[in-house]
Amino acid sequence: MTIVGAGLAGVECAHEIIKGGFFVRLIDKKPERFGAYELPGFAELVCSNSLKSEDETTASGLLKREMRALGSLLLAKADNHRVKAGGALAVDREALSQEITAYFQEHLQVEILSETVTSIPTKTPFTVLATGPLTEAHLATKLSNDRLHFYDATAPIVARESIDMNEAFAGGRYGKGGDDYLNCPLDETAYNAFYEALITGELVETDDYDDKLFQHCQPIERLAKRGRDTIRYGPMRPVGLKDPRTGKRPYAVLQLRREDASGEMWGLVGFQTRLKFFEQKRIFQLIPALRHAEFYRYGVMHRNTYVNGPELLTHGNEMKDRENVFVAGQLSGVEGYMESAASGLLTGRFIRHLLEGKTKDEAIGLLPSEQTMIGALHQYVIASPTSDYQPMNANFGLFAATDDQPRKKDLRRQFFIERSDQEIKRVLGKEDD
Ligand SMILES: Cc1cc2nc3c(=O)[nH]c(=O)nc-3n(C[C@H](O)[C@H](O)[C@H](O)COP(=O)(O)OP(=O)(O)OC[C@H]3O[C@@H](n4cnc5c(N)ncnc54)[C@H](O)[C@@H]3O)c2cc1C
Repeated sequence: MTIVGAGLAGVECAHEIIKGGFFVRLIDKKPERFGAYELPGFAELVCSNSLKSEDETTASGLLKREMRALGSLLLAKADNHRVKAGGALAVDREALSQEITAYFQEHLQVEILSETVTSIPTKTPFTVLATGPLTEAHLATKLSNDRLHFYDATAPIVARESIDMNEAFAGGRYGKGGDDYLNCPLDETAYNAFYEALITGELVETDDYDDKLFQHCQPIERLAKRGRDTIRYGPMRPVGLKDPRTGKRPYAVLQLRREDASGEMWGLVGFQTRLKFFEQKRIFQLIPALRHAEFYRYGVMHRNTYVNGPELLTHGNEMKDRENVFVAGQLSGVEGYMESAASGLLTGRFIRHLLEGKTKDEAIGLLPSEQTMIGALHQYVIASPTSDYQPMNANFGLFAATDDQPRKKDLRRQFFIERSDQEIKRVLGKEDD
């Protein structure tokens, strides 16, 4: 079988197949670097190095709990490359990608082809397209004419040695997280100067950017345009932080998160942007601690492609009109690193069951139901209303309300965890039958 794209979805999918003792041909453009991809290897985290919260009472934490139980490769390898980030799972992106790439390169059941695929491979029993948000138009058009898109941007990364530590302090909110974050405080005067520059900065132009922006990942300058204090209540909120120099909560704060294990690279948290590069340098250097900042990477805007999942896809992410062709990852309309990996994992499990000789109905019966976060996301992709289909992150709103669920939030979250555990147990138990 063939998987096109060795990103987050592709590697999870491949891992599921080889688990069953089957062979995989994994095709990826890498080591070519294009669009947002900077690394030569597989499973690249293109922007932030955070796989989000590990708290299992959050949607993202619950998704990770399920994926660990299902044997996620990404999470197992991520544990080897953790960098400190409070309650979040953040990793050294480069080391993670290197380990995953080596794992496949050395695996005897895997053939790796380094090439750009321009049409859907046909001479293979099963094909998975997991080419991600930056899938080229000519390939996406082979799946459907109804090609959808939205815009998304990355945040800059600065060099540790260029941060003015006389103007910054280490620590997480409410004293949690030790030196996982560096905080760059601004007083009211500095904030106002920064704010004015931010909302008037020169932007990279696009035609339909404003209509097609992903709502959960707004660029900092766009958020700022909503009002002077919006970002002070958003990415630059100072709550839970005390500047040791003054003993007081700052007026506003930019947090920097460690990007690599050595602590050389620090990402500007929540500062995804479409400002032109020279404007990023000018404007972000107005933050006192970044006065002399050297930028390892500037924020960049990208056009993300996805297909109309509910119209095109069915159980296991198989195409309705093309048997044994599957679409996994962000291209299917999930949004986020873990969500994309989850989509690949689910697709891989489904195909593995078919390769093991199960019927389609049996394989469908082995998919985690919508009582799990991974199953609810899958249902969203294949069964949500097709008009205005939008990419989706893991969230508790994906669970249909039931009469037996508690009203109190804490109890309800616990209920979701227990229900999910039972369903994952059922799926794993049935798999062994
Ligand atoms: C700019 C940007 C920033 C993002 N930032 C974040 C973030 O901070 N946090 C977050 O959770 N999510 C983020 N995302 C969203 C998304 O979850 C990730 O992009 C995620 O990596 C998608 O996983 P995937 O497996 O679907 O695709 P990818 O991980 O992108 O993998 C696709 C793979 O396919 C290969 N490929 C593409 N086309 C071809 C071809 N024609 N032939 C052969 N190989 C091909 C690529 O080389 C790549 O290895 C961001 C997306 C973008 C575009």
